[in-house]
Amino acid sequence: MKMAPPVEKNEYIDAVFEDVTHDGAGVAKVNGYPIFVPYGLPGEEAKVKVIKVKKNYAFGRLVELYKESPYRQEAPCPVYKQCGGCQLQHVSYGGQLQIKEKQVRDVMARIGGLKDVTIHPVLGMEHPWLYRNKAQVPIGEREGGLVAGFYRQGTHDIIDIEACLIQVEENDVLIQRVKQICSKHGVRAYNEKLHKGTLRHVMVRYGQVTGDIMLVFITRSDELPNKQAMIKEITAAFPNIKSIVQNVNEKRTNVIFGEKTKLLWGSEYIYDYIGNVKFAISARSFYQVNPVQTKVLYEKALEYAKLTGEETVIDAYCGIGTISLFLAQKAKHVYGVEIVPEAIEDANRNAELNGIKNVEFAVGEAEKVIPNWYEQGVQADVIVVDPPRKGCDESLLETIIAMKPKRVVYVSCDPATLARDLRILEDGGFKTAEVQPVDMFPQTMHVENVAVLERSL
Ligand code: SAH
Repeated sequence: MKMAPPVEKNEYIDAVFEDVTHDGAGVAKVNGYPIFVPYGLPGEEAKVKVIKVKKNYAFGRLVELYKESPYRQEAPCPVYKQCGGCQLQHVSYGGQLQIKEKQVRDVMARIGGLKDVTIHPVLGMEHPWLYRNKAQVPIGEREGGLVAGFYRQGTHDIIDIEACLIQVEENDVLIQRVKQICSKHGVRAYNEKLHKGTLRHVMVRYGQVTGDIMLVFITRSDELPNKQAMIKEITAAFPNIKSIVQNVNEKRTNVIFGEKTKLLWGSEYIYDYIGNVKFAISARSFYQVNPVQTKVLYEKALEYAKLTGEETVIDAYCGIGTISLFLAQKAKHVYGVEIVPEAIEDANRNAELNGIKNVEFAVGEAEKVIPNWYEQGVQADVIVVDPPRKGCDESLLETIIAMKPKRVVYVSCDPATLARDLRILEDGGFKTAEVQPVDMFPQTMHVENVAVLERSL
């Protein structure tokens, strides 16, 4: 029997929000049929206008609030609703942490079938603003010069902004100045439609501990007019700049970076520390954007690994070796594996930089390299994985099950794929002991987790 949706387009309904989706919209139900309404919060009652009706769900717009959540607040950012980079600024920080904890609990139960696993409250930040160490902004132009900021939600119109409230202030100040200097020297913005012009994006990275700054110009071609004069002005104004790089992206694409990267001034790297480990970071390598919470996350991973100095550890998806080098200080030997060759070059350099000798890095897919190690007789006491959002390849999980390490520490940026993979490991003889959510991205819906599994068979 085909059931018609219980609401119609443009209809006004009275809604009660029960939940929040993974992208931050409120969920209300009419006879079990869900309506997603941006900015609705659990417990709130509201008048909603139905905007779009699909077979199994609808979208609505919040028209009037009858009952407000105690967590609701005025979003501090003036462009919050246009930008879309943050989803939770209308919620107090305490409320954000509640929403994230519930989200983790729900997916663990629903996707992982893990009903009685210990899930701790989210570890939040003391100051959940001005935390991002990396900004990459699209460049446009208006009469009077260049603009830089963000794309208006769902469009490619660039909104010019002076400050982003989750970005370290150093990055905002530098971007403002770079915009002025480039305008003054006649640099034209890239025009997407015509595939003409010069400057596509500007990327800035800031070493929170060292104060080092890297500036990257992403251009359509090799050409960047008046670059020597601009570099002179920029470096004079910002003595902390250690590296200025140009990346050339010749393609018609939404992907920010192109293949070619060249050094314009200074060093190819900037440095930063997480805890006592020093890292060289190049323009193209992955580096966590919230260094304060990265330390919290890695310390938790290290605590869960319960190392005594005797263990052989594998760190899968190791990037530039961040977690590997943390672990190496407490383990006998660490093997790291990562698919991007440049990241492994960085990882080797970082090991050397810190005088850490008991690590070995390999380039390749974790799901291919680790089975090879296993065949060659490598026995791991602890395996750490930190995959991208899509989670671990199933064949890697099977190898882990076969290798029978004492412990698996799983660092994850997507609770849903984490829950899926924990289920597979549980079915293979591991027991999830604890899950610790860490708030790496305050004001947004993202939540990072670290889980530890012990071998039960
Ligand atoms: N542990 C690192 C990096 C985590 S991000 C840190 O905390 O900084 C995930 C990493 O996995 C990225 O560096 C990405 O390049 C890498 N990666 C993606 N797919 C992979 C695969 N199949 N095998 C190995 N590494 C992979």
